[in-house]
Amino acid sequence: MRIAVISDIHSNLNALEAVLSAIGSVDAIWHLGDTVGYGPEPQAVVDRLRAVGATGVRGNHDDAGGGGRSIEFFNPDGYRAMEWTRTQIDEPTRLYLAGLPERLVPEGTAFTLAHGSPRDPIWEYLDSPEAARANLAAFETPYCLVGHTHVPLVFRESRGLMRAVFVDPRSRIALGEERLILNPGSVGQPRDGDPRSSYMLIDTDAGLVVWHRVKYDVEATQAAIVAAGLPLGLARRLRFGR
Ligand code: ZN
Repeated sequence: MRIAVISDIHSNLNALEAVLSAIGSVDAIWHLGDTVGYGPEPQAVVDRLRAVGATGVRGNHDDAGGGGRSIEFFNPDGYRAMEWTRTQIDEPTRLYLAGLPERLVPEGTAFTLAHGSPRDPIWEYLDSPEAARANLAAFETPYCLVGHTHVPLVFRESRGLMRAVFVDPRSRIALGEERLILNPGSVGQPRDGDPRSSYMLIDTDAGLVVWHRVKYDVEATQAAIVAAGLPLGLARRLRFGR
């Protein structure tokens, strides 16, 4: 089975389209939340994800887009963008966002999906080996997939030690006996200094996970952010992948 894993699209339709083209044909597309927020095309992004049959989990921005209280914890730019997002989505989309599960184990697979972390799915940032180790007891499958930090990396457990391994494009890791927490990076707002969209492909037959980057039309998304009247910082950061 070949599975594409995408996360943190953040209403960036140009980025999502570039990733979907690059992925080609797969058996499943899993998303790790934050489909909306920050970016200019929330409705179109959710429509597209539903059209390709992606299954996934709820992030803090999905929670807020669905009407949840996560918005109260957003920074000023995120807050303004979310207020705007709420005016741009129809009721079925609002219900879709609010109804996304916090955690998901796709049937018959070895993976637990969560946006932030398995123990605190909406909000915890898994950005240190300590945080990752503390989460090992919070999922039962061998592997866990998370987003939220917008930085592609893997936490691997070996003989009781937890290590963080940052990944480059084309990095690959074998699915073996070590428990792993894997982050595909962000499609719509990368924050690791590389502005290209990041995603991950899992091949369960080969037992391999491979990270990929793909260019998208950053200027077009920036222009759409400006045209929507969203905070300019949300446009600027895309160019730098920050
Ligand atoms: Zn996010």
